[in-house]
Amino acid sequence: MTSHLTQKADNKADIAKNLSQITAQLMTALHDAGRATADCILVAVSKTKSSDQIRAAIAAGQMVFGENKLQEAEDKWPAIKEDHPGVELRMIGPLQSNKVRKALQLFDVIETLDRPKLARAIARIAVEEGAVPRLYIQVNTGEEPQKAGVSPADVPSFLGLCRGDLGLKIEGLMCIPPHDEEPAMHFALLEKLARENGVEKLSMGMSGDFDTAARLGATSVRVGSAIFAARLA
Ligand SMILES: *Cc1c(COP(=O)(O)O)cnc(C)c1O
Repeated sequence: MTSHLTQKADNKADIAKNLSQITAQLMTALHDAGRATADCILVAVSKTKSSDQIRAAIAAGQMVFGENKLQEAEDKWPAIKEDHPGVELRMIGPLQSNKVRKALQLFDVIETLDRPKLARAIARIAVEEGAVPRLYIQVNTGEEPQKAGVSPADVPSFLGLCRGDLGLKIEGLMCIPPHDEEPAMHFALLEKLARENGVEKLSMGMSGDFDTAARLGATSVRVGSAIFAARLA
């Protein structure tokens, strides 16, 4: 595992350089695992980063981004999306059910579907908005009490509710492993849950472990600090 936390990214050149290094590392991991390079995309996590930093990443060719706070995304993204309609934005943080309409308007993908109440709100508002949301179920692979996500044992029934009763299409599963555990076992668990339940995509892996995730089947990795340097908060 390589740590990039000390990398500088206070200008466009740093961000472009970090992106190309991470892409190269990702390609190596995919190649080592016998996977095609198109099998896993890089999601640039731009939380706490300025619009200028995001625009620098777009200028360097980055097309998919993640934000973890609705309000922050609302402040930054409408203007960026107007200039770059092809760029995809993913919600990777907690979502309140009373914020679903705004979230569906701003985000192309919601990766943090984690409870029945939220699933019901999304289903109802998607109909009203005429939207077909792209959704990932967040799985609490470490069964941490303070962490969001469906527990692994509940994945089949929650999928049944979403797909059956609510008519939602579930694109993938997402996890954030516990800080103090080997992430590989959590990535392997998420891959197994997806395989057993007929779910196609896997969002897993961050700056410190995205190469491990790519080897274990990730179809997207969420990388923030390694691209934009360490966050202050
Ligand atoms: C911040 C964040 C990331 C990126 O973490 P880094 O360690 O900065 O790469 C990935 N996923 C989620 C859900 C996050 O909140």
